[in-house]
Amino acid sequence: MIKMNQHYKELKSSYLFYNISQKTQQYCDEHPGTHLLKLGIGDVTLPLAGEVIKALHGAVDDQAEKETFSGYMPECGADYFLSAVNSYYQARGVQLAQDEIFVSSGASDELGDILDLFAEDNTALIMEPAYPAYVDANVMAGHRIVHMPSGRENGFVPDPDESIDADLIYICSPNNPTGAVFSREQLKRWVDYANTKGAVILFDAAYECFIEDEAIPHSIFEIEGARTCAIEICSLSKTAGFTGTRCGYTVIPRDLERGGMVLHDMWIRNRTTKTNGISCILQKGAAAVFTPAGQKAVRENIMVYKNNAKVLMEALDTCGIWYCGGKNAPYIWMKCPDGAGSWEFFDRLLQETQIVGTPGEGFGSCGEGYFRLSSFGDAEDTREAAARLKKLLKK
Ligand code: PLP
Repeated sequence: MIKMNQHYKELKSSYLFYNISQKTQQYCDEHPGTHLLKLGIGDVTLPLAGEVIKALHGAVDDQAEKETFSGYMPECGADYFLSAVNSYYQARGVQLAQDEIFVSSGASDELGDILDLFAEDNTALIMEPAYPAYVDANVMAGHRIVHMPSGRENGFVPDPDESIDADLIYICSPNNPTGAVFSREQLKRWVDYANTKGAVILFDAAYECFIEDEAIPHSIFEIEGARTCAIEICSLSKTAGFTGTRCGYTVIPRDLERGGMVLHDMWIRNRTTKTNGISCILQKGAAAVFTPAGQKAVRENIMVYKNNAKVLMEALDTCGIWYCGGKNAPYIWMKCPDGAGSWEFFDRLLQETQIVGTPGEGFGSCGEGYFRLSSFGDAEDTREAAARLKKLLKK
């Protein structure tokens, strides 16, 4: 009889977004006509930039003509897309060979698929609070999980602990949900730890475009030694509003070897077996993000979100509420006032201000007592939310 992956039985039900939608639905049913101020979403709200739309339309038209039609695409990425991404890295001083970059249909897909490279008998280190998919993907893969809590005392940016043996290390910087970023020195300590332990870092750079402090690395490959221990997973979802359009990229340096195997070569073998590449239409649209006009256009949208974050931070500053994030990230991670629990604060915000946020407890138990505000909402709603937050928190 067929044997099923028993690890699925170990998955904990994720009540976070289900509970949020149940509670907000109930509120709307009891208060018909209410306009909710949605600061809970991790999705973008602005449309694709004009430059991207133009390229997507052009790519569709190309498919209508024999001379420009594309059939199967190279599994690891079209030359025009990979060279566009490569120039983006080069502009920040990161030298990659073009074939070290792989196109993807987004970071979520890659964070799950990449686990194919690693045996079941491995331990994943997950710094919490964390993006919930890290834990679930490792449960499905049958890995042991070490939950590494972080907190206000280390700014939600933990240092390696030599006494912990881990094989896979997740680093998300800028972080979802805390908005915290790892400094160059902190990343160097993790790179040294991974090289010493023979571990692999999975560096999630989904929010790199929000970094504004010059000193903060956008890529793990800005750190010496990372080429022998890290894989970087990036996405155009937040950079360019591709959450529904889907395109991203992954970097695996040729120098990354473990157990006598070259991970880059393994990934080529994986991609050429398990995918037939990403649509040429999407890759042409995505390549437009990296042109000077594309960069200018996507930056304009990012600035709208960054301005939302500023408005929210200003409200929290006025009320003397502790938070991190917001400056180099689209998320603000605030301490719930008056020692409230994160669901308790969720209810209070919803009932008294009609603001919907995300309770920190949903990102790991050390998130209890904290709350995530997202800057991806509508600008006018965010201004209104900031005004209501000020009123509530000053009470
Ligand atoms: N990584 C982090 C930290 C995220 O927050 C998200 C999405 O919210 C993703 C990855 C997934 O992004 P994508 O849309 O590229 O699958």
